Amino acid sequence: MSPIKRIGAVLFIYAIYYSTRIVRKQINLGNFRLNQYVLQRNGELRNYKRLNNKLSSKELDAFLTDKIPFYRLLDSSESMLFRNRLLLLLRTKWFVGRQGINVSDEMILTFGALMVQVTFGLNNFLFPHFQRIAIFPDIFYSKLFERYVKGLTVYHTGIILVSWPHVEHGIDNEHDKINLGLHELAHALYLDYFEHRNMLNGFDRWTNKALRVFEKMQLNSKDFFLREYAATNIHEFWAVCVEHFFEAPIEFREQLPELYSEMCKILKQDVAALIDRLPNDYYSKAKIA
Ligand SMILES: [Zn+2]
Repeated sequence: MSPIKRIGAVLFIYAIYYSTRIVRKQINLGNFRLNQYVLQRNGELRNYKRLNNKLSSKELDAFLTDKIPFYRLLDSSESMLFRNRLLLLLRTKWFVGRQGINVSDEMILTFGALMVQVTFGLNNFLFPHFQRIAIFPDIFYSKLFERYVKGLTVYHTGIILVSWPHVEHGIDNEHDKINLGLHELAHALYLDYFEHRNMLNGFDRWTNKALRVFEKMQLNSKDFFLREYAATNIHEFWAVCVEHFFEAPIEFREQLPELYSEMCKILKQDVAALIDRLPNDYYSKAKIA
């Protein structure tokens, strides 16, 4: 056998071995073939991460109570649903550290919790198209936009990319109406659910109301309730609305009641109502506005 043929044979055997590894993974995971395909195509199979340690329900509850402001608004049955959804969702996601960052369980749980938060009112809560989350240690360069960005949601490859310090900052400052994780997930929600899953009707209804506010912002976006970035285009307007919906729901309902009501309809949840039902001494209403 010539050396070239020998090399060809070795490569062939390796290809068989590699594909059986992938098939084995597929069997373990059930139906996530697309996910495996994407990982295989990008040669990242060895770099993905999932939750390492299994937490008890009590430990998970303690983590979420400490970390996720939205979780603290839920009653006991809702918080149980939240935890169950989170564990299920995380079985369908892969996390990849980029530019030397090490993905921790805490990051996986935190980002997964934001995903559960955004879709908490929906029956389909899994963001089926977005199965990979890439985590960066800081802002990163986007070839697509030819500039540095904090986050990016790419439908084509089903990946959400985020700078981790900015995700953390968004969660830690829970009322400043800036939350990178929620912002990117709002884009993901639009792309996955509204644009590609025949749910555009609901989004069209929302757009009717939104355009009136958006046009007002085009004239003058200074001193407006929604932050200025919303005036960029209707997609950024949507993502900024989602950030405000979760970070300043009471104020949103007061300032833009019609748009707030459309947000509730499209996301099938009402964060201001969750705050309304809390006892005053438990959670200051002023604080969340
Ligand atoms: Zn955006």
